[in-house]
Amino acid sequence: MSDTRTERKTIEEFIIPRGTGKAFHLAAGQILRITAHEGKQVADVKFINAHDHREQFCAWWSSCLNSERPDGLITGGTKRITELFSKPPWERVMLRVIDDKVGDHLFNGACSPRIRELMPEFEYLGSETCVDLFREVLAPYGIGLEDLEASGTFNVFMPVRFRDDEAGTWEFLPPSCEKGDFIEFQAEIDILVAATSCPQVAIINDYNPKAMMYQIFEPAG
Ligand SMILES: [Zn+2]
Repeated sequence: MSDTRTERKTIEEFIIPRGTGKAFHLAAGQILRITAHEGKQVADVKFINAHDHREQFCAWWSSCLNSERPDGLITGGTKRITELFSKPPWERVMLRVIDDKVGDHLFNGACSPRIRELMPEFEYLGSETCVDLFREVLAPYGIGLEDLEASGTFNVFMPVRFRDDEAGTWEFLPPSCEKGDFIEFQAEIDILVAATSCPQVAIINDYNPKAMMYQIFEPAG
């Protein structure tokens, strides 16, 4: 069996240093690989229609749509999804996960000034949270925090368990990845991506925030 990956053309490759963010474009058909090249680390990633910023990936809704299918085909759930849907009124697949050996993520929001206030035990590298980083990297595109889908973050390699207590409270765990693990997405439409290497000095980054590697490929063939 031939490895089709060797026939891929690399379009771009870059690092998002620890505690920072970046926005970049992914054209329809292109593949995005995110690698935990330094070890256990979470990436918070937002996907926005490059031509209509109102259409954005809706995380928790995608988790639901992946697990409730009339045809019985389960494409995901609360730990992994393969189809990334946009919010209503669009509700279409913006990207697909095409390689995910780790398969243990969260579909939610991102650390914010308010979380920082409510959970003072979680320290940060500097003064910024992921939400602050999204504001900075999306400002050049004319996108403000108020324009973003609040539950629109793919929390890559962030495993959360929902306890079997009365409220079903959250339990945060160390990142699900080991050094070198990656996840790959393929875009169905032109996408503006905003991503962070989360700055929380907490269990979710194994108490040591790290950089992550991003590669964009043109598919083989
Ligand atoms: Zn964060």
